[in-house]
Amino acid sequence: MSELEGRAALVTGAGSGIGRAIAARLEADGAAVLAVDLDPPRDGPGVPLQADLTTREGNASAVAAALERFGRLDVIVPNAGFQHVAPVDEFPEDRWDAMIALLLTSPFLLARAAWGALRDCGNGRFIAIASAHALVASPYKSAYVAAKHGVLGLVRTLALEGGEAGITATAVCPGYVRTPLVESQLADQAARHGTDEASVLEEVILEPHAIKRLIEPEEVAATVAFLAGPSGRAFTGVPVTMDLGWTAR
Ligand code: NAD
Repeated sequence: MSELEGRAALVTGAGSGIGRAIAARLEADGAAVLAVDLDPPRDGPGVPLQADLTTREGNASAVAAALERFGRLDVIVPNAGFQHVAPVDEFPEDRWDAMIALLLTSPFLLARAAWGALRDCGNGRFIAIASAHALVASPYKSAYVAAKHGVLGLVRTLALEGGEAGITATAVCPGYVRTPLVESQLADQAARHGTDEASVLEEVILEPHAIKRLIEPEEVAATVAFLAGPSGRAFTGVPVTMDLGWTAR
């Protein structure tokens, strides 16, 4: 039997990059998956649901749809995100609000709405996709770094509150992953520095990694599958760091 047979998962940001890889992997491992996104995958992986997760309604509708479709909810993977790079005195206030709403408030709203279901299943898993930026900062990413540090605080709190019910909560903290989110930064930064994308990748993006490569989305998905499965049950209240040595400094 597959490791996640009979389990139901909700993955946000499942239309692209890391979220899409997670939805595919959890489905391949036997879970029923609700793939939530502004622009959800039409031909799988998972059952598509369109929702704007910067809104209360979007988060509530995602949990309600999963419970209606699957009758249970065992694994929540808040992953949807975006990046905005600007000095603090120029950082657009609306982008700050939207980023905190998506990266920090959405995980809280999903946990709040799904808490009863996670408790009922006896071993619920809340696996937030945070970032190495939950542990260290970089300039010009004030909203992103603040939100990612915040989600680690949320995970630690959920781990304490969920312990008695067997709910675990973890924050996966990758370094740079090969996805459209990073690829768009390459183009932006190349234009800003007046150089080419290969130089930006080598000199800017990969600079903090001890091992100079990008992580593949499937590597993050494999970590999530491990945490969602039986072998991951001792991990709770912690960052699960996979950053090619970034935070060893
Ligand atoms: P991505 O841009 O490939 O995918 C993000 C997805 O989120 C998209 O499908 C997008 O439509 C969706 N989304 C955006 N706003 C939304 C909204 N309001 N409602 C619903 N869905 C929305 O990005 P990615 O690189 O796969 O990033 C996924 C997560 O991983 C993010 O939380 C990001 O911070 C985190 N992360 C990424 C990296 C990296 O290097 N790519 C590293 C560490 C952490």
